[in-house]
Amino acid sequence: MAVIPCAEMMPIYGRIDLQQKRGARSKLLDETSYETVKRDLRPAAITAIPNRVYDLYMSRLAEDGMFFYPFYKVKMTNGFMHNEVPAKLDDPSSFTSGCITKEIEVAKELKRLYGIYRNKDSSKKTTKDADKKIGELLGYPDCCCEFYSHLENYDPVYESALGGDHSFFNSELYCLNSDPALFQHLRYFGINIIPWFPCSYSCKESRRRSEVWFNVMKSLNLQLAEEILNLLKKPSTWDLYNGQVLITHEDFLGYVTSYFPKVRKVVHFNQGDIK
Ligand SMILES: [Zn+2]
Repeated sequence: MAVIPCAEMMPIYGRIDLQQKRGARSKLLDETSYETVKRDLRPAAITAIPNRVYDLYMSRLAEDGMFFYPFYKVKMTNGFMHNEVPAKLDDPSSFTSGCITKEIEVAKELKRLYGIYRNKDSSKKTTKDADKKIGELLGYPDCCCEFYSHLENYDPVYESALGGDHSFFNSELYCLNSDPALFQHLRYFGINIIPWFPCSYSCKESRRRSEVWFNVMKSLNLQLAEEILNLLKKPSTWDLYNGQVLITHEDFLGYVTSYFPKVRKVVHFNQGDIK
């Protein structure tokens, strides 16, 4: 590990609630993911269950007509992680990563595809194909699965912005005609609606599905769901360089560890055309 993972937010004066509700936002996103499978809106969801609540989680799934199919154990880490760290079987603080679903064939297929995806000896094409099929089984749009499968190993906030209407000013990208419900650049703090990277922030199919997700979210916690969308609608800038992301939002500053692109990548959201 090159750096210790970190995802910190510093709200402006008077917005301490943004930090206080961080756990609640993440919980709402997890619950929305769970509900979309329970309500037959998609075949499966990937989840990581902490060992200490494993039994409780299994009971809840059974009562809801679903089951958990385990893939592998991962270590518990602080901050926002792009890469999972494998854990020993007897590590009491580990998570079990796997899928929740109602269909055993879907579960088996996802586990098989994850095996290919995580195997370092798989060819690039095989890995891409597996990645694409995983996205489809998780209910993500075909166009976005295709887009994601061609990406290299980095945070694709910039690439999603490049996929849609945009303009450049001083090498910085301005995202235009976009739908805030599709944004992923604040997800480190539990501020996002959909869990996939859209092929563009105006992708039609993502917009359609994001409405379904947002309705589920609202049915679970109307006030918090609307707060998340309102935060996504405010002007913000995502600035990645040298493994560090700096987020400047109207209500907070954010610092996140990330990948190491060779060039600086900057995206401005909700700031209109600079002309
Ligand atoms: Zn798409």
